[in-house]
Amino acid sequence: MTSEGPQRPPAVVRVADLVARGLIAPEAAPAIERVTQDFSLRITADMAAAIDPADPADPIARQFVPGTAELDIAPEEVADPIGDGVHEIAPGLIRRYPDRALLKPTHLCQVYCRFCFRRETVGGDPGLGDAELAAALDRIRAEPGLFEVILSGGDPLVLSDRRIGRILEALDAIEHVGVIRFHTRVPVVDPARITPAFLDLLDLRAAVWFVLHVNHASELTENARKSIRALTRAGVPLLAQTVLLKGINDDAAVLEDLFRSLVALRVKPYYLHHLDRARGTGHFRTSLAEGRSLMRTLRGRLTGIAQPTYMLDIPGGYGKVPVGPDYVASAGPGLYRVTDPQGATHDYRDGSDGGPD
Ligand SMILES: *Cc1c(COP(=O)(O)O)cnc(C)c1O
Repeated sequence: MTSEGPQRPPAVVRVADLVARGLIAPEAAPAIERVTQDFSLRITADMAAAIDPADPADPIARQFVPGTAELDIAPEEVADPIGDGVHEIAPGLIRRYPDRALLKPTHLCQVYCRFCFRRETVGGDPGLGDAELAAALDRIRAEPGLFEVILSGGDPLVLSDRRIGRILEALDAIEHVGVIRFHTRVPVVDPARITPAFLDLLDLRAAVWFVLHVNHASELTENARKSIRALTRAGVPLLAQTVLLKGINDDAAVLEDLFRSLVALRVKPYYLHHLDRARGTGHFRTSLAEGRSLMRTLRGRLTGIAQPTYMLDIPGGYGKVPVGPDYVASAGPGLYRVTDPQGATHDYRDGSDGGPD
């Protein structure tokens, strides 16, 4: 196999392709063209093949096939919902926390998710040029507190092996960088990209971690499972992050199936994200109360190693925080009321002597 991988079937990139594959009705094409003028379209061959066009609720189609509901922009929806812009310390380098920063070498992806929080920036301009990338790496080099660099985008795995290799080599040479974390959808949506030559790039001094973006068990095709297995065999620790999406995975049985499938593939569910307020994504949004209730249900019936943390990225760039559910409430000095997985409450008196704090 070459570093470019085997010949791959074409991806869906035009509205006409959606019509030809029966993914939208021909009469819907003009309206969908309007949507794709604002928000990019791309569905890999693997994901297009995994869609059942006869199922109007197909969870993969809902994530990638554009819909006219995206033209409904609510007043609270914004272009930069998590405040990337506020924390950009060099072009393509975002630092919101002291020990880690996000490096976005590209704005391109193999698939464009209809609910993406960076949907305003992905798909158009390709990303950092050589000089900008060098400047971002210089900045990382000059910040000894940066223990971890998170490669995001866009999807860093759209870059060539040569470019990824150069970035990894530069980061690995920076002594204070202990962890290089990839956030990517590619092993799942374009599994042929995970070639032996690519895996060779990951064997570094610094620990390379992968966080896979997966939202429904039906994305875990046979090819996706093979690429995940290749990554684990190469010794790469794997985590997964999932976005809570109305009509796709806002159901305890669906999440249970996804999280169990992931741990069976040696992938630890890391975060379940509450949907960010990106423009035209209201039709995917659940309430925080619904998310908390789903997490409470899972706590009672799903193995602990398959439980992600439910997270909210506070609008404005204030960071990500766990949003419960809460099992412990203060009930007076040194006294707590604790809820068990069945919903019953129990008093817990704090302090090793059993007395008040
Ligand atoms: C999400 C994010 C991170 C990673 O946060 P973790 O809680 O460590 O997963 C880091 N930097 C930025 C700018 C982020 O948006």
